[in-house]
Amino acid sequence: MAYKQCKSGVLAGALLLASGNSESETLLETPAFWLESGQNSVKTAERLTVNNAFAKNVVLFVGDGMGIATITAARILEGQRKPDNRGGEENALSFEAAPYVALAKTYSVNQQTPDSAPTMSAIITGVKTNDGELSVGMQVARREKSANIINTYKVKTLLEQAEEKGLSTGVVSTARLTHATPAACYAHSSERDWESDAQVPAGATVRDIAKQLLEFGYGNGLEVALGGGRGMFLPNTTPDPEDSGKFGGRSDGLDLTQRWLTQYPKSAYVYNKAGFEAVDPKQTEHLLGLFERSHMEYEHDRPNDKGGEPSLTEMTEKAIDILSKNKKGFVLMVEAGRIDHAHHAGNAFRALTETVELSNAVRRALEKTNPKDTLIIVTADHSHTFTIAGYPERGNPIMGLVKQPGETGFAKDSNGLPYATLGYANGPGYRGQNGRPDLSAIDTTHPDFLQEALVPLASETHGAEDVAIFAFGPKAHLFHGVQEQSYIYHVMAHALKFEAGR
Ligand SMILES: [Zn+2]
Repeated sequence: MAYKQCKSGVLAGALLLASGNSESETLLETPAFWLESGQNSVKTAERLTVNNAFAKNVVLFVGDGMGIATITAARILEGQRKPDNRGGEENALSFEAAPYVALAKTYSVNQQTPDSAPTMSAIITGVKTNDGELSVGMQVARREKSANIINTYKVKTLLEQAEEKGLSTGVVSTARLTHATPAACYAHSSERDWESDAQVPAGATVRDIAKQLLEFGYGNGLEVALGGGRGMFLPNTTPDPEDSGKFGGRSDGLDLTQRWLTQYPKSAYVYNKAGFEAVDPKQTEHLLGLFERSHMEYEHDRPNDKGGEPSLTEMTEKAIDILSKNKKGFVLMVEAGRIDHAHHAGNAFRALTETVELSNAVRRALEKTNPKDTLIIVTADHSHTFTIAGYPERGNPIMGLVKQPGETGFAKDSNGLPYATLGYANGPGYRGQNGRPDLSAIDTTHPDFLQEALVPLASETHGAEDVAIFAFGPKAHLFHGVQEQSYIYHVMAHALKFEAGR
């Protein structure tokens, strides 16, 4: 491997080996390099000081389905795109600079491997519950129809508490705003799929999730709600503004986008990039953005979107600009919702590209906030069955076939066939009906390639191993060790001086 990058001027002279011309000078990762960089890391760690102050603001980033293998592979993919990389493995995503990291146990009350509803409920209320349920206690049966029972057992979310205390709140997601992760922030339901009234069964008195976003009921409601899911907010008689021939999905005739505008003064509703860019944060107190009928585009496909969509980074920036006007502080949840969807589809390229965009959004949030008063957390709700395998040489394309050091051809399985570094334990990438496929002539780095899966399933599943919690700012040091996922709420509430569960 050839290396060209060296941050340490002291080492550069010792490590640069001239190899003919200055362009191709190579910097080797010599023992001296590792000794010095390791010593520097120790010094940096010793200089770490605990910030035990309380926080004014909390920004919670959730990479939906962003297991640790996803973080590692995204780090390498981003690194390999940089011109001065040393293979890509040494790269770091923005949030990997966090001084404090912990692990979260993601199981739900009734499932070993959870879905996004109970995991986000745990993160945002401090209480674990059953799969499929949003911010209610485990006493509630899934698909419970009674609003009275939901009201009896609902658990207060951090955003509801923040609104009661006069802080501003926001929810940003690339998924539908009514999808499980954003929904758990503002809605209480026995069923995550009851996103609009058309999905709520006859006889049920539980309000649909989109309606609950409008009827938040604490403080002056969410100040910012940006994402997809327009269909859940528009009547089935209203033509969609972006997709001609398509209509909203509500059967009760309610136009919740109009209601947003009438119920909030100084409010705006936007559905495309031009509208989004025209929003002046200084003049806007309540911003609703619904950029797709369903989920927003994947970051990779965003340039081809008909109506134009903002990126996760741009939405994060606008949200902070609006919310930070409140002198009392704010709570913002930002979800990279489609890491999960790409994994379910067995498509590592899009899952990793979504993860890199999450890293960009976190970097922007770090730039736009003060580390003295803003607790920034980056975590995942659950993992996936995604793996990084084999013994590829340093710098081998992360999306590619395994090629071992010193060998000219690809590594072979027991039957003499090459295999890719990335794969899934199950999912739509299964091709084993007649034994493993021959990938020799297949471009596994193509954005649409589906990584091989061991067990055939139409949709790849979540994985049950722990996920990481990265933290910056006041009380970040409380993220240590292996914790229940619900612990994340308790640290955020404590950092904001909120009483847990009240
Ligand atoms: Zn999922």
